[in-house]
Amino acid sequence: MPGNKLRKATELLKRQFSVFRFPFSVWGKAISPTFLRIISRSLLFSGLCWLLLLGIAWGGAPAGKIPVVASIVPLADFCRQLGGERVEVQVLIPPGASPHVFEPPPSVVARAGKARLFVYIGGGMEPWAAKLLKSRGTENLEVVEAVQGIPLIKEAGESHHQEAAEEKHHHHKPDAGAEKAHDDHEGHNHEAGNPHVWLDPVLAQDICRRITAALILLDPGHSQDYEARRDRYLQELADLHQEMEKRVSSFRLREFVCFHPAFSYLARRYGLKEVGVIELSPGREPTPRHLQKIVRAIKKYGIKVVFAEPQLNPRVAEVIAREAGAKVLFIDPVGGRPPYGEDYLKLMRYNLSIMEEAMK
Ligand SMILES: [Zn+2]
Repeated sequence: MPGNKLRKATELLKRQFSVFRFPFSVWGKAISPTFLRIISRSLLFSGLCWLLLLGIAWGGAPAGKIPVVASIVPLADFCRQLGGERVEVQVLIPPGASPHVFEPPPSVVARAGKARLFVYIGGGMEPWAAKLLKSRGTENLEVVEAVQGIPLIKEAGESHHQEAAEEKHHHHKPDAGAEKAHDDHEGHNHEAGNPHVWLDPVLAQDICRRITAALILLDPGHSQDYEARRDRYLQELADLHQEMEKRVSSFRLREFVCFHPAFSYLARRYGLKEVGVIELSPGREPTPRHLQKIVRAIKKYGIKVVFAEPQLNPRVAEVIAREAGAKVLFIDPVGGRPPYGEDYLKLMRYNLSIMEEAMK
């Protein structure tokens, strides 16, 4: 009953006030021993709170746990799944921010300094990570770069569709100076290739194997624990892969249009085709000519939905969708928000259900 709750709240408030009013009214005379007891208790309590808060701010892991820092939410989830109770994982890029345009504030850099394991995507995804590692030094630190050993999709070359290939070719033709200025502006190095490897559940398995190997190096006494966790999680990733294969195979449409090339590995794995990418690099406004090509592709393939992303402004996607008579739905390459939270498996199934809605 709301009335009841309200009454209880007022009573609580009154009681609190009475505690404090009592000693003030006798201020200058004797101070009640009860008051002293209450004050000392609350000081002790707030002291503990402060210690706790400072502990969080310092990024210190509780005793006995391995402090792990991951650049993005999916990598942090991998580390938690694989490390379990033995790790304390922090994410550097807050949910809602695009990893491409994020610049870590000094507090984040300080937090990373405490880590014993640093997991990031690499391949130009987090250009600040190299600086961070340089200033931190790799002493007492294991580093896992997710893209390492994975042949990356070259954005200019490897394309499933002629139209997309032409467009990409066109975009990657600027002279060296312009390309360099672009990279400086974006902080996103294209030379290494497309870095969005984690959105392919098969490549995710490879990343998880390497995270486990790093944990075992740091804490060899519990290697059996880590191996058991790894095998369990690899099975879950394998199940996800099978489910995706099965559900995508029943899509009516193979072609899709999305906001930035985040789903290229997913598309390649399941035989889908990215026939239009609105922003070939995030934050860079597409030309009217590029937008016209996307509108034509949408009409040509009978695409009903343009995929936008929660981390990036959907305005251009909305303009294109209106122009082409399609609608906008959101798929999320990074996660960290409802309904999937920080859970990679849930994020992937959520994206799959949106794609299903759009392409089945
Ligand atoms: Zn991206």
